[in-house]
Amino acid sequence: MEIKLEDLKVLFSEEQIQTRIKELAGEMNEFYKGEEVYAICVLKGAVMFAVDLVKHLDMPLKMEFIRLSSYAGGTKTTGKVNAVDISLPDLNGKNVLVIEDIVDTGLTAKFLIDFIQCNFKTKSTKFCSLLDKKITRKVDVEPDYYGFDIDDKFVVGYGLDYEGYYRNLKYIGYAE
Ligand code: 5GP
Repeated sequence: MEIKLEDLKVLFSEEQIQTRIKELAGEMNEFYKGEEVYAICVLKGAVMFAVDLVKHLDMPLKMEFIRLSSYAGGTKTTGKVNAVDISLPDLNGKNVLVIEDIVDTGLTAKFLIDFIQCNFKTKSTKFCSLLDKKITRKVDVEPDYYGFDIDDKFVVGYGLDYEGYYRNLKYIGYAE
């Protein structure tokens, strides 16, 4: 399937995304109550979401970036998570907030949660995803926070790509 910009339909507008992000940040500010947080952005897809989300978080916060991939390009997952760069600081005793773009099969989320739990004894580990495709889940994992629940559609924009393109869109769209 080739995805052309002119065929994209808006699923979530810039305004809807930004409004939801402020709501999520409000819940997080309430939960952490000023405690320090390590926000871990999963590159590349979560970059826009993570950057916008942390602007609304008011606790002391450090940002880390890791890079994983499960899509081999195109619109199908490989079903295997590749850790491209997963170097992290010492997270023992820390509040860890993982920020993802989308939970689809759940393999990436599970891989990351297991990785953090195997390597560190954190104070708390929370998983936040902008999108949740519950319908395509293959492993038992649920984000602690998510922006929007979506159907089994391949979406692009606002960090999410199709063969590397469309990450720069301000909205999230799909092609039928
Ligand atoms: P999972 O491991 O949950 O199957 O997939 C997670 C990763 O697959 C996401 O971080 C994202 O990079 C990619 N992915 C899953 N669904 C979509 C989608 O609809 N659009 C795009 N662009 N990427 C997706």
